[in-house]
Amino acid sequence: MNQNFPPLVIGIDLGTTNSSVAVAQDGKLTVIPVNGQLTMPSVVGIDPTGKLVVGQAAKNQAISAPENTVLSIKRLMGTDATAELVGKSYRPEEISALILGELKRAAEAHLGRSVTQAVITVPAFFNERQRLATQDAGSLAGLEVLRIINEPTAAALAYGAGQSDTSENETLLVYDLGGGTFDVSVVRVENGIVEVRASHGDIHLGGDDFDEALTNLGEERLREKHADSLPAAAHRRLKSAMEIAKIHLSDEPFATVREEYLTPASHLETEISRYDYEQLIDPWLVKTLDCVQRTIADAGITAHQLDKIMLVGGATRTPAVQELLMRTLDMEPRHEINPDLVVAMGAAIQGATLAGQPTPAILVDISAHTYSVLAVVGHDFMGRILGCCPVVRRGTPLPVTKADLFTTQVDFQEKVEVQVYQGESDDPSENLSIGEFMVTGLSDVPAGNEIIVQFHIDLNGLLTATATEKRTGLAKSVTIDTAGQHRINLDAARTNLAALFEEQDAAFSEDDEEAEDEDDEFTSEYDGESVDLSAPENEGPANSSALLASAKSLRNRAGKLLDQGVPETDAAAIHTSLAAIPVAIDARDWNQLRTILDTLSDLLFYLED
Ligand code: AMP
Repeated sequence: MNQNFPPLVIGIDLGTTNSSVAVAQDGKLTVIPVNGQLTMPSVVGIDPTGKLVVGQAAKNQAISAPENTVLSIKRLMGTDATAELVGKSYRPEEISALILGELKRAAEAHLGRSVTQAVITVPAFFNERQRLATQDAGSLAGLEVLRIINEPTAAALAYGAGQSDTSENETLLVYDLGGGTFDVSVVRVENGIVEVRASHGDIHLGGDDFDEALTNLGEERLREKHADSLPAAAHRRLKSAMEIAKIHLSDEPFATVREEYLTPASHLETEISRYDYEQLIDPWLVKTLDCVQRTIADAGITAHQLDKIMLVGGATRTPAVQELLMRTLDMEPRHEINPDLVVAMGAAIQGATLAGQPTPAILVDISAHTYSVLAVVGHDFMGRILGCCPVVRRGTPLPVTKADLFTTQVDFQEKVEVQVYQGESDDPSENLSIGEFMVTGLSDVPAGNEIIVQFHIDLNGLLTATATEKRTGLAKSVTIDTAGQHRINLDAARTNLAALFEEQDAAFSEDDEEAEDEDDEFTSEYDGESVDLSAPENEGPANSSALLASAKSLRNRAGKLLDQGVPETDAAAIHTSLAAIPVAIDARDWNQLRTILDTLSDLLFYLED
């Protein structure tokens, strides 16, 4: 390989469940695929032929050959524990070195050059021994570890914190919920320095727990039909299916799990709703919230002093996680950078700085607004309260497909109107209505008929809204150009302007004709008297028409008031103005007429009041 390449330092997120590697070169950041995937399972194994396998291949055999597979080695880093592989013991550093070596090879294959230096991330709570173990794992893999950085620091760097052109000082909360671990940190960025102020976590809390809870639910439902309980291998198979269902539930309100022959006699086909799933995982989410509160307190701040919340880790894609944080901290969490990759990206940014490379900016396509559906959100003494229920939130990376569940409110409701709003408020009057459509021919059923509303937004901002009656599959969609919502419709505007010009031409040519005619005859009327409308030097004829119309209207109002009776002095003032009007008109003194009318108008306004 050519040794004359400019210095290059890769960034590695060595995760408990998954790892990834990224690099920044010439101001451009790349997450390097490993076997075609941007994240690689942090799994090491020996396959049935005796070959060492790392990553997806090792994960694939974890179900069938758990004794030949090592998972979650990160939990043992910095301890004297060992992992067994086909009867042989390995130190955690050694297993981690195999993972790092695989990432290094993938980077070299991708970049076409050797890679010898790296930045590796660790959780903020890692102690010195755990950090040294990580560094040693790097050296065993043939990498000089230039820096070990905290995962929340890396996330903050990826979101642009501490860059030379960002002089902003800010306080960030990094909420990291991965497969096997959870941690939360308060990070302070001051004069370009990024520092973790406080951090808490639970190294045994993550998406795996959610998978396990769903698996138990599946087993429970299975036992309703089949008495036998599942052997370990079938339990693992079911867990794998449940993880897929869980991921599906982040975007859809229902997921169906179909697993045949879990045992020779048991087949599972079950539907799980997002609502049931959220109830199931709520105790863990509450636990993470306790950690959040503790971390904020330990950082010596209050939640109001946070400037941003950033989400890290695949499990933060769970809508309930985002909603919980938003409700509790009253701030929308940032999740536009892929939460699986944000730490590796931050490590690569740090690597670029150490290599003297320009700092890359991470650009992502995101939804600039929240898109919601109008629905009944409560009741009060006036009746139903309508509110905007978000389906796609602001800051969601594009393209996106998300769906939510709505129900009919009335028995035997035959149709529903889906009204789509753009904007951040719950209150529809503060948002922009961008489209609506009707789904008719719904089933003849009592209230509570389930309607799934799905939004798909593509990279061009085209939103396709689809409403589907769940029980029949009856569906209707519309496509709305969200990018066009604030832009002028050029064709409509051209037609509009052309019409205006035509009107103007017609009006002015009429006026011109009038003006010519008026030179020698009366063409308009003021209270039955013929009035000369020819234009004086200082006033256009169109304005004089308006003044005359105004004079007529004021005269009528004055007449009514005088009939009703007004104080003597006011009546005298009205008569004076009324008498002055024809004098000004005769003199074609439009300025004088305007002054008289203004005075009269003020007087009438005061008296009518
Ligand atoms: P990480 O350790 O950051 O790679 O996160 C892995 C965890 O995130 C696993 O438990 C995954 O099942 C979970 N995960 C990945 N994608 C999603 C998703 N869309 N919704 C919910 N959980 C997810």
